[in-house]
Amino acid sequence: MRILVSNDDGIDAPGLSALAGAVGDMGEVTVVAPASPQSAAGHAITLHHPLTVKQVELPGLAGKAYSVDGRPADCVRLAIKNILTEPPDLVISGINAGANVGINVFYSGTVAAAAEAVMCGIPAVAMSLQIRGDSGNFARAAQLCRWVLSQLPIQPGKAELFNVNIPILDPGWPVGVRVVPQSTAGIEDIYHEDSDSNGLPVFRLGKKFGFLGPTEGTDIEALAAGYITVTPLRVDLTDHQYLPRLSSIDWADPPELTCD
Ligand code: MN
Repeated sequence: MRILVSNDDGIDAPGLSALAGAVGDMGEVTVVAPASPQSAAGHAITLHHPLTVKQVELPGLAGKAYSVDGRPADCVRLAIKNILTEPPDLVISGINAGANVGINVFYSGTVAAAAEAVMCGIPAVAMSLQIRGDSGNFARAAQLCRWVLSQLPIQPGKAELFNVNIPILDPGWPVGVRVVPQSTAGIEDIYHEDSDSNGLPVFRLGKKFGFLGPTEGTDIEALAAGYITVTPLRVDLTDHQYLPRLSSIDWADPPELTCD
């Protein structure tokens, strides 16, 4: 099996090398990751400058590794279209330093890299570790990610997207695995007002936050309770339940436009 590993924390992130090392027994691993940290880049791609690809050494990796001075989605699409000689059978993104649950899935470059693979027709898994402070035990998390990968129903050629989160690795955790839906609760975060060197007001997003709605039965609740969360995601954002209601409207002909 050919495996592409990417992330959003950048080519030097400890979670990337830990993950690439842990899946080395699953097949031929190639790493293509952003040259610099790209957390919260979402599904951005680069249009305004050409992408530079550099081959790099990644400790403990038998396969090749490349950095790209672009976004996570750039890395995956460029890897599939140009860098790799053959398309991968599986794309794994992570291990992100920080959980990607709830609406963070929309901001996440980790999830975007995996979603990009699915858009290219390749199954993909986004993997994130909830961390406390600035550090996480990526070596232990990588063992758990490898174990989850061995159980996920990944089918070659079936472009399905899985979002996996590992809880903080306190003693006794994880307590189990929960398959849960993504929370849609808004984030109750704060912009702190400050001023720059010219006295102009600037705003910094606060780190502490809560949620603006209930999180029972979702990925947020399960992760906070110490479970590994697994959520199948879809690239299709269509509200399929709403479709019939909207299409039942008797849509009139568009108005005739007058030119002036
Ligand atoms: Mn990140």
